[in-house]
Amino acid sequence: MELEALIPVSRISTEGFRTGQWSPRKAYHSEKVSPCREACPAGSDIPEFMCFAAEGRFDEALKEILHENPLPGVCGRVCPHPCQDHCNRSNLEGAVQIREVERAVAEYGRGLPQRGEGKVGGRIAVVGSGPAGLSAAYFLGRLGHRVTVFERQKELGGVLRYGIPEYRLPKGVLQKEIERLKALEIDFVTSTPLHRETILSLRQDFDAVILATGAWSPRRLGIRGEELQGVFYGLPWLSSPSTATTDPRRIVVIGGGDVAVDVARVSRRLYPEARIVMVAPEREGEFPAIPEGLLEAAEEGIEIEGGWRPLEFLGEGGRLKGIRFRRCEVHRDPDAGTYRITDLEGERIEEAQMVIVSIGQVPEWEVLPQGLKQGHIETTPWGETAIKGLFLAGDLVNRKAAVVEAISSGKRTALGVHLRLLGDDPQKVLSEVKIGGGRAVSFKAFLKGTSKRLDRIAEFSEVSRYLFPECPPIRPGKLDPGERKFSFREVKFGLGKEEASHEAGRCFNCGKCTGCDLCFFLCPDLAILKGDPYSVNPDYCKGCGICVEACPRDVVEMR
Ligand code: FAD
Repeated sequence: MELEALIPVSRISTEGFRTGQWSPRKAYHSEKVSPCREACPAGSDIPEFMCFAAEGRFDEALKEILHENPLPGVCGRVCPHPCQDHCNRSNLEGAVQIREVERAVAEYGRGLPQRGEGKVGGRIAVVGSGPAGLSAAYFLGRLGHRVTVFERQKELGGVLRYGIPEYRLPKGVLQKEIERLKALEIDFVTSTPLHRETILSLRQDFDAVILATGAWSPRRLGIRGEELQGVFYGLPWLSSPSTATTDPRRIVVIGGGDVAVDVARVSRRLYPEARIVMVAPEREGEFPAIPEGLLEAAEEGIEIEGGWRPLEFLGEGGRLKGIRFRRCEVHRDPDAGTYRITDLEGERIEEAQMVIVSIGQVPEWEVLPQGLKQGHIETTPWGETAIKGLFLAGDLVNRKAAVVEAISSGKRTALGVHLRLLGDDPQKVLSEVKIGGGRAVSFKAFLKGTSKRLDRIAEFSEVSRYLFPECPPIRPGKLDPGERKFSFREVKFGLGKEEASHEAGRCFNCGKCTGCDLCFFLCPDLAILKGDPYSVNPDYCKGCGICVEACPRDVVEMR
């Protein structure tokens, strides 16, 4: 009685009064792509796996990552993490340490991928078991195809096993990820090098052949003295570090990229007493290697010198004894992708008993079937060549040599092969599951056959920062530099379970509805319908826009 005196109260349900027609503008729940996901070539749904990791649900987080990426333990260690560089939180106290959380998920999560029940069940050969070959085999296995991987080495993994050193990527971590792949009943045939003719003849027994043989021929300098004893090349040397040069006092590594950094750091561990110098034509501070690796090399006592190029290797009795260098400078045009070195005044001779030339690798063209243009092979975005049934993936065709790029290319190629076998148009289908403006495609979206658009990006300006208290990132510790000299133990420690959950909790989950219910509680018209996904009941939404303003993650919008 008292209440009715104060405010009008209806004695019957007001549900019949459909107030939604008052406004032509309505709110809609519509998830967006986070900038980190758009930047990830593998297309991992980062906001989604971060939600699980934040709650300590590592099995579910792993399952989520495995939708798009078969090698999270590897990427959690060696990925150059373009995702982190695009994290919206980097506009505040620092990006979420996505790579570290991914590593923790791979460490603590359990689960196996499921072999698909393919409609076509093709037989596919993959040549090469690096990340591109493994990724192609993985996605084809999940689509229900029978896959055989041919590998010339005794063990699987390509550069992951024979190039990237143990102190960055322990072999046990790689092995665990390969074991997981075996659940897909992929046949692995190792110690089997294939050649031009054998590759082409595979097409008689298989519906498609994917070449993922990487880039293993070292680039040479083309200068005098390269035949001397004591001259080695980056990747071949890393794959079986030679100790033929007994106790070198001075080692010079030529090159400023990531391979050169690994070569210098492996040399440090093999020859802890030697003086090791990395020399490159770029100025110090402009080396192409990831800065983190250069910093760790410097911590390990490796000297880094920029602005010099080698002119000749000097020898005595057929053995290297020094290198003549010329001062130089590099002119790069990032837009045109060109690189030019010009000489400056000044020469010097550096004593060395060992030099390891690490200026890049190119594919072994002699293995590729004739008919593919050497030097630059034309393929579709899903790796299809002009030769029927022959596809390429990974470093063989990628402009950027990185594990995550190889995984991405392996996935696109697997989908391309699958769609060709089905008689579908890969161009059309892949464009429907493309993530944002990048090259990544979503395997999860492909399997679901979802028509959800993946092209709208959640902007930082739309994130409600006031809901996320300041919280600096947790960065894991590292092995002491003094200890590193004598050991191949992993340099970077991982995050503990609680630390990983805490770090994942820093994620804004941009563009993703986490069921926080702010829209539900603040809607004055009770128009929000909870569910998976949430939606707005247009019969009651008066278009006030409170839910749009309230959503911390840019999920609700007016239309
Ligand atoms: P690969 O990994 O090269 O694998 C190709 C496989 O094919 C090999 O196993 C090879 O034995 C096999 N093969 C070749 N020819 C034949 C044949 N005729 N018959 C049968 N098998 C054959 N990227 C990062 O993202 N982060 C890093 O930290 C990083 N560090 C690197 C360090 C080093 C030393 C090097 C060399 C590269 C590094 N990269 C890194 C780059 C990255 O490893 C490559 O981009 C990636 O491995 C390419 O994958 P892939 O599958 O195309 O080729």
